[in-house]
Amino acid sequence: MTKHPQQQIPAIYHRRIGDITVTALSDGVLVRTHEMMNDVPKDEGDRHLAAAFREAFVLSINAFLIHSGDRLALVETGSGDYLGPEAGKLSANLLTAGIAATDIDTILLTHMHPDHSAGLTDMSTGEANYPNAELVVHENEPQHWFDDGAMARGSEREKKFMFQQAREQCAPYQSRMRTFTNGELFPGVTAVPCHGHTPGHTGFLIESGGEALLIWGDTVHMPEVQVPRPEVTMTVDTDPAAAEASRRRIFDMAAADRLLVTGMHLHYPGFGHVEKAGNNYRFVPEPWKQNL
Ligand SMILES: [Zn+2]
Repeated sequence: MTKHPQQQIPAIYHRRIGDITVTALSDGVLVRTHEMMNDVPKDEGDRHLAAAFREAFVLSINAFLIHSGDRLALVETGSGDYLGPEAGKLSANLLTAGIAATDIDTILLTHMHPDHSAGLTDMSTGEANYPNAELVVHENEPQHWFDDGAMARGSEREKKFMFQQAREQCAPYQSRMRTFTNGELFPGVTAVPCHGHTPGHTGFLIESGGEALLIWGDTVHMPEVQVPRPEVTMTVDTDPAAAEASRRRIFDMAAADRLLVTGMHLHYPGFGHVEKAGNNYRFVPEPWKQNL
């Protein structure tokens, strides 16, 4: 008798955008409840799950490599060991993809929440996990997360997992951190600021050879709910009204331009399109592409 598989295959998926190759990597998943969403009672949350044939709000945590010419960027670093045993898989998936941490010359962060930035540094040694990488992030992120006054106003959980995490994870990169407000950040990659989820939350538009992909960061956390109902905000949004406005603007842009998108919490690997559906929106996942 053959032995049944005991673990899932490594989560690595390549998608060519013109001359650029984007690789989706999984950091694992976050298991959450309706309580992560503002103003969504449990019975309504349960209805959304049932309609999507899902048993729980399980969020993918995705990261992406961008191979552009002879340069290599990593978008997000996963969650390290901050968020439990079902997350923190990024470094293993990177190795399986044949990428050494020393190969990465640039790290682009959409923002500094623990599922995005907590893989920057090994806290047991205080050493950078990516010793050759420049850290690139919107200027509002360190301005906010390194601000003692803002930290003092946060909950205990926010103090530890957001403010403290951002500070300790960025520490070994202080001398090689580049902040931006706009413009081209990496060859073929342009900033698309979409603030609200955090003060500097930014998507990355990849363009090459007439093709494009928008990595929209945390524009969506709960796709079953927030695509058809973009007004639903998250308890972790620093400015929920601005987060909603950014989400609607990004959805409108993606729908109008028939733009390929992916994101950090769309179900892995997350590639697909947004289209208008009445007054709201619908997400259409892209099928697996065999050929690069
Ligand atoms: Zn996130």
